[in-house]
Amino acid sequence: MSKSPVIVGAGFSGAVIAREFAEAGHDVRVIEARSHVAGNCYTERDAETGVLLHVYGPHIFHTANEDIWNYVTRWGSFMPYSHRVQTTVGEKVFSLPINLLTINQFFNKAFRPDEARAFVAEQADGTIIDPQSFEDQALSMVGPDLYEAFFKGYTEKQWGCSPTELPASILKRLPLRFNYDDSYFNHPFQGIPEHGYTPIVESILDHPRIDVQLNTVFDPKDTDDAHVFWSGPLDGYFDHKLGRLGYRTLDFHHFREEGDWQGTPVMNYGLRDVPYTRITEHKHFAPWEEHEKTLCTREYSRECGPDDIPYYPIRLVDEKAMLSEYVDLARATENVTFIGRLGTYRYLDMDVCIKEALDVAETYLTAHSEGRPIPTFVHDPL
Ligand SMILES: Cc1cc2nc3c(=O)[nH]c(=O)nc-3n(C[C@H](O)[C@H](O)[C@H](O)COP(=O)(O)OP(=O)(O)OC[C@H]3O[C@@H](n4cnc5c(N)ncnc54)[C@H](O)[C@@H]3O)c2cc1C
Repeated sequence: MSKSPVIVGAGFSGAVIAREFAEAGHDVRVIEARSHVAGNCYTERDAETGVLLHVYGPHIFHTANEDIWNYVTRWGSFMPYSHRVQTTVGEKVFSLPINLLTINQFFNKAFRPDEARAFVAEQADGTIIDPQSFEDQALSMVGPDLYEAFFKGYTEKQWGCSPTELPASILKRLPLRFNYDDSYFNHPFQGIPEHGYTPIVESILDHPRIDVQLNTVFDPKDTDDAHVFWSGPLDGYFDHKLGRLGYRTLDFHHFREEGDWQGTPVMNYGLRDVPYTRITEHKHFAPWEEHEKTLCTREYSRECGPDDIPYYPIRLVDEKAMLSEYVDLARATENVTFIGRLGTYRYLDMDVCIKEALDVAETYLTAHSEGRPIPTFVHDPL
């Protein structure tokens, strides 16, 4: 490499790429706007309660990819953890994802799996043959009662629009189980770092060839001919000149109590009349720790403004059209590769980020050694 590559962002994407370059013998600069590494996976101790706080929302590491599990566990100890979620609907609490217990409690029945399957099929709206919207998809799968209780209000709060405006594809991914399996993720490898995600990312970045600059906003005009790996927002690289790609942002309202406040790490609130989507009780992510006090967070979703943190890419028809224009612009720009969840405008879990970052590093190192140009996108955002 003629000039040391510059990596913008010290989240998992940037950190993993930096480490691969350093181990391949290259010096690398990592520039991070925030005062800390680990991006949105950042965790810190709450001074008042001693509880480990997931600052940008709760993060559970889960993957089906054993190589990625082996990779991430190289950097610190992970504790066994199996994520479970409950939801409050009116005056009652149910288990998620919808499973046989949810169905039996909701309809006050004692169905066995085949009976429940047949019952839910009767509830489903058989007149909807080719569902296009989220709402039609839900009604055709579970019928109006389960839809209203578990999907409608939550989705309206989370996405700020009616489920009639969202594509059916969103719901096709949500599981519906006719057994008592209430584990939230299907992946065989699951855990939470014993001391949080921050020391994991610090370990990845801890290499003599890696120079991390915190509290530094990278300006794309200052590339200095070095190749840039950009894990900031794709539209932000171009100063939003084609418009702003739509995101949802989150407001986190913390409160502290004594003891165990809700008895579970995440309690969703399914109905529209409760303004927040969920409450997280952080100490339940670390059941190996003991704390007398507790720290909980109410989570509110809303449209992302220019000064807000972008969390969930919206990716509906209008956003995809704008994304396509940004992708064309990016492909016509030299010396930059867009990486990570913001650089490619996709929702990515941590394991996917790590896998993609390893791919990007390998692509670059190979291209560089063969004198070929590095692609603008190693993973297609469209
Ligand atoms: C609420 C929520 C919950 C989630 N829960 C889970 C979960 O349970 N499990 C899971 O696997 N994944 C989860 N994720 C996904 C996880 O957060 C992402 O996979 C991960 O954060 C992506 O890492 P990244 O490095 O691509 O981006 P980020 O973590 O966003 O890092 C990008 C970094 O770039 C920096 N940056 C941007 N622009 C500039 C600039 N101009 N100059 C300098 N620095 C800049 C930012 O400050 C940031 O630190 C969740 C996401 C959300 C929104």
